Amino acid sequence: MLHEFADLMDMHGDIFRRNAYRRAARSIEALDQSIEEIIREGRLRQIPGIGEGIASILMEIVESGTSKELERLRRTFPPGVAEMMRIPDVGPRSAVKFYHELGITNLEELKDAAEDGRIRKLSGFGERSEANILRGIRLIEQQGSRMLLSDALSKGSAIVEHIRSYGFPLVSVAGSMRRMMETIGDVDILVGTSHSVDAMEAFIAFPNAVDIIVRGESKTSVRLSDGTQADMRVVPEISHGAALQYFTGSKEHNVKLRRIAINKGLRLNEYGLFDSAGVNLVAGLKEDEIYRLLDLQPIPPELREDRGEIEAAARNQLPRLVTQRDIRGDLHVHTILSDGHDTMREMAMAAMKRGYDYVGLTDHSASLRIANGLDVDELLTSLEQARQLSNELNFPIMRGAEVDILEDGTLDYPDEVLDQLDYVIASVHSRFKMSIDQMTERIIYAIKSGKMQILGHPTGRLLGRREAYAIDLDAVMEEAARHGVAMEVNGFPERLDLNDMGCRRAKEKGIMVVLNTDAHSEEGLDNMHLAIGTARRGWLEPENILNCLPYPDIKDALAR
Ligand SMILES: [Zn+2]
Ligand SMILES: [Zn+2]
Repeated sequence: MLHEFADLMDMHGDIFRRNAYRRAARSIEALDQSIEEIIREGRLRQIPGIGEGIASILMEIVESGTSKELERLRRTFPPGVAEMMRIPDVGPRSAVKFYHELGITNLEELKDAAEDGRIRKLSGFGERSEANILRGIRLIEQQGSRMLLSDALSKGSAIVEHIRSYGFPLVSVAGSMRRMMETIGDVDILVGTSHSVDAMEAFIAFPNAVDIIVRGESKTSVRLSDGTQADMRVVPEISHGAALQYFTGSKEHNVKLRRIAINKGLRLNEYGLFDSAGVNLVAGLKEDEIYRLLDLQPIPPELREDRGEIEAAARNQLPRLVTQRDIRGDLHVHTILSDGHDTMREMAMAAMKRGYDYVGLTDHSASLRIANGLDVDELLTSLEQARQLSNELNFPIMRGAEVDILEDGTLDYPDEVLDQLDYVIASVHSRFKMSIDQMTERIIYAIKSGKMQILGHPTGRLLGRREAYAIDLDAVMEEAARHGVAMEVNGFPERLDLNDMGCRRAKEKGIMVVLNTDAHSEEGLDNMHLAIGTARRGWLEPENILNCLPYPDIKDALAR
């Protein structure tokens, strides 16, 4: 709700309050305790970024489930105006301008206006912005109402926390979110309890649930304030594992599993694994047990796509998927020197706090002016600062850079400068619209320089905002394999690039992968779980992943 406040303030041009609400929202997201508890203990004002005004709004929300001020602000613009901001390049100021000057109140009307050439007549807009708007609307239409995995996970875990606080221990997220798919339709929650009515009450009382869509004894659906649908299913405790298996999907995976059950003279449904008569329950409480009784290794949710996981499980050959514990450091981190929000020291300490063995700092190179890229002198100064900081903190800081791959495939620093770095992530940040041949050649040229260790966000896609650039990923990977260049899985919520299939191809080709967050602030480091989820969907094991190496092995590997 604080994020919604921030969006609305943005539309009113109130940048100062927008920033305050955004900051408060982020600090609350970072808490490991519920806000209700904190209020009860009277410690609200101790949270960084929460002043008197926001504190009283939070108390009102927790008490009444809503805020009068928020409802008032919601009424100041038709709801469709905020929706226009889903289009890349359409910020709050443009959305408000379309509304005031052209009377446009939603995406549909904006599309009509752009098609009729009415946008180009507004001051500050032209044919090009009109074309961009239409392209953005097409992307949104393709994506439908799907949300990013990270949004779904934060909503899902908030609901799970909420239901647990009502005394229900068996609560989990299910569906595609549990499989860590990159975009998610609805938020699916599953509860195992015999007190279905009470559980549904608890669900409806979730502060961010603004509307009840269906209310039943085994399933209830609500709408959250941002329009997301959340579904909660309740099954008896004894069926929790079976239901979790069933509702996690995918459909293809489950169809195959049911067939295996039938071949063994059993029956599998959301209530359990039964004998052939469908009477006696063989298993149901524990998901793993169901797989074992079907003579399969328990299959991690991320693999359940019918991409060979059932066959591998039958042969006892599932991969040992990477986990957070295997990750020893983050190698793609920005600081205040380019476009990050926090200092080198803050980022290094944040990495230490997360239990890493090392961190790699990689600010942008000079050509990326919009990200305040570092020129050679600034870079060299920062290398010296990083060395001192590393000594002072007694924590290995590897000195890298995220260097632009320029249009002609050259890297954005001279070779003798690149040689002074511990490693180079090379990325494409400009001229995305080249032909597939040109783009492939551009990247291969950079790989052949022998000066880069990691290809950053290899396809350049931004989920729901920008498609991948045209690229022959197989050709790029083959060149990368020849030169020992690793592929990045960038865990920035909109990127997740490489995607799952890309990870699997890299593994097949014997190319090392790096799991990074591309953090631009301390909290950004927490996106590692998104990179891990993507890597797990791509069947990656610790030995496929460069930053599962401890220090100093990682340094040697990068130097090689
Ligand atoms: Zn980048
Ligand atoms: Zn970056």
